[in-house]
Amino acid sequence: MVFEYVAEKHVKCLCCRETTIMSSCMDGSTSTLIRYEYNCQVCGLYSLEKSIDRENNRLIQALYYFILNEKSANIDVLVVSENTESVIKEENGRIVQYISEEDLITYYPIDFSQKVDKSLLNLSKVYSEYDSYITIQTSGTVQEINKGLPVAEKIKNLIFVDCGELTNGKLYKITSFLDLIADMELIKKNLSGGYSYFHRYTISSKGWLHIQGLQKDVNVSNQAFVAMWFDTSANNTWEMISRAIRDSGYIPVRIDEKEHNNQIVPEILYEIRKSHFVIADLTGHRNGVYYEAGYAKALNKEVILTCSEKDFENRHFDIAQQSIIKWKEGQELYDRLVRRIEATVGRRK
Ligand SMILES: [Zn+2]
Repeated sequence: MVFEYVAEKHVKCLCCRETTIMSSCMDGSTSTLIRYEYNCQVCGLYSLEKSIDRENNRLIQALYYFILNEKSANIDVLVVSENTESVIKEENGRIVQYISEEDLITYYPIDFSQKVDKSLLNLSKVYSEYDSYITIQTSGTVQEINKGLPVAEKIKNLIFVDCGELTNGKLYKITSFLDLIADMELIKKNLSGGYSYFHRYTISSKGWLHIQGLQKDVNVSNQAFVAMWFDTSANNTWEMISRAIRDSGYIPVRIDEKEHNNQIVPEILYEIRKSHFVIADLTGHRNGVYYEAGYAKALNKEVILTCSEKDFENRHFDIAQQSIIKWKEGQELYDRLVRRIEATVGRRK
């Protein structure tokens, strides 16, 4: 498919609300609209397929969280897609990371403690200096408060409060949530001013330590990396592995690599580092798969090895002592993987 970009215009970034350029990405041969692409100075290049609801507040907040905390490091563009599963691949000379709408929404926090943690992670990315102030003006003249609204709108997308379209009457929703985090002493609150006053927050030392802990804790990751030979003959294998991962409550991530080229290797290593565990199917005995499994093992990740029966005898000497799931057909692979995931890393709710 040849992409064409037309109708550039200035809009607000869906995530950070800075002015950004949006263009429509068309299929060059049929001139049909495929997706909207945003080129944001802060968030980078990201794109949403036309069928994705861009007014869906939760989805946009999940997207912003993903961009700030989870997005692969060196990709050129992130695409939110209706159907394509999570995969990173080269496309028209760019490294593209796809994430499905369904997967993306799972990054939205499910309970209070996750909301606090993920809000803090977001804030630490945008207010990354120790002395940065998160400022919200809640009282004063209507003009004064309205002037502060764009700033509050940026903060609103960083923290997980549901307040829909932000008006000056809803500012308290943001400050009440931040006050709760202040109660936990993870941020510090300073009220300042007289008649027109500001709520000012900074991340506390306790908050920074908490954030540091969260970043190290790979158990918060819901991602499972799949290393395997992505030959067309392996489509069914991928199907079964990815279903077993999903049914255990995780998101499978794969990287399509034609060959190990230098451009994509850093992505592979990065994705392995931030995965909860790794599944490596040795069928076909590709060097890349062994390399990725070894890398994950060295990082103390749980690595589940699988191999088709027909290739089992040829497995590499170094791993001959390991417990490998030997499978004959897809359903067996699925069943045994689900059990193994449950036994080693546990099912994720
Ligand atoms: Zn942005």
